[in-house]
Amino acid sequence: MHFHVEVRNLCKDYPGKRALIDVSFGVERGEIFALIGPNGAGKTTLLRILDLLDEPSSGTVLFRGAEVDYSIKDRKDLRRGIGMVFQRTVLFNMSTFDNVAYGLKVRGMSEREIREGVKAALELVRLQGFEGRNALALSGGEAQRVALAQALAIEPELLLLDEPTANLDPRNASIIEEVLSRVNREGKTTIIMSTHNVFQAENLAHRIALLNEGKIERIGAFQDIFERPHRFLSEFARLENVFSGFSKATPEGTSIIDVGNGLHIEAAFERSGSVIVHIPPEDIILSTRPIVSSARNTLEGLVVQISDLGSIVKLKVRSNRDFTAQITKRSFNDMKIGLNSKVFLAFKASSVKMI
Ligand code: ATP
Repeated sequence: MHFHVEVRNLCKDYPGKRALIDVSFGVERGEIFALIGPNGAGKTTLLRILDLLDEPSSGTVLFRGAEVDYSIKDRKDLRRGIGMVFQRTVLFNMSTFDNVAYGLKVRGMSEREIREGVKAALELVRLQGFEGRNALALSGGEAQRVALAQALAIEPELLLLDEPTANLDPRNASIIEEVLSRVNREGKTTIIMSTHNVFQAENLAHRIALLNEGKIERIGAFQDIFERPHRFLSEFARLENVFSGFSKATPEGTSIIDVGNGLHIEAAFERSGSVIVHIPPEDIILSTRPIVSSARNTLEGLVVQISDLGSIVKLKVRSNRDFTAQITKRSFNDMKIGLNSKVFLAFKASSVKMI
C-alpha cells in the first residue's frame, strides 16, 4: 500500500534562504494532517509544492505512489483532484456563484452540474442565498467560506489549506472547522492544512507535523507530540488552557499558581517561581450544577463558544480566565447547554501539567 500523498527529502531554496530542508512524510488517504509551526517555518512553501504550483529544489513528491514529473500534462491531471485554500483569500471581482463555479467551469462541467455543484458547496459552508452577492463585498469570514466552497465544489480528493481560520472570528472559524471535519468524514477527503492553532490541530488532525525553520521536528498523533509539550511550542501556539503565572509550593507537596484575574490553580507538582501550565480539555469535568468532588480546582463560568466536532463538542467557558472543556455530543444534548449557559468546571491538581 502506498500513501495518498508522499514527499521524500524535499528541499526548497529561495535566493539566500533554505525554506525546506530534507522534509519527508506520507499522508494516508482520508487522513487529516496538520502542519504546525511558527511564522516562516516553511508551511506555505510546502503547501504550494503539494499543490504543484511550485517545484522543489530537490526531492520528490508522489501521488498514489507515482512520482510527479512536472510535465504540463501530469500537473494538469493531478491538479484536477486538488483543492487549495490560500492564507489570503483570492476571490474574483464577480458574483459568489461565479467564484464558486470557477473550478467546475474550468473542468468543462455542464450548466446543470455547475448549478448543482455550486448549490451543494454553498450549503456546505452555510452561505445559501449568497449566490448573487459580489465576492469582494463579503466580510473576511464569508470570503474565506466562499474560498472553501470554491475548493470543495470540485469534490477534491486532496484539500490543501493554508491557515484557513487565521484572523477569523470564532463563529466563522468554527463553521470552517465543522466543514473540514464533515468533508473528511463523509467524503473521505484527504486534508493537509497548516495552522498556528494547536487547539484546532488537536480537534481536527489525525496526525501533526511540527515544522520549524524548514525542518520537521516531530511527527505523530497529538497525544504523542503533546504529552510533554515542547517548550518552543508555547512561544507560538495558541494552546487552549495554557496559563502562565507564579507558583508557590505548599507544605502538602502541591503548588498554588496565581494565573492572574484573581484565579489560583492548584497543581500536584511542587514548584516555586514562574511556570507555564496546561490543562488538557478532556480532563475538565463540566456540569450545569455546582460540582462536589475531590477535584482541587472548581470554577463557575459562562459558555461563550460551542464547536460541534461530530461526536465531541468543545466548549469555551469564560470564568476568571477562558477555559476549554470537551464533552461528548450525547452529554451536550442531555445537559441542554447553549451559548451563555452557566456551567461549573472542575479539574484535578494532577491534570495541571507544567510545560
Ligand atoms: P507564515 O506562517 O508566516 O505564513 P510559513 O511557515 O508559511 O510562514 P513560508 O511562507 O513557507 O513560511 O516561508 C518560509 C521561508 O522562506 C521564510 O523565511 C520566507 O521569508 C522565505 N520565503 C518564502 N517565499 C519566498 C520567496 N518567494 N523568495 C524568498 N524567500 C521566500
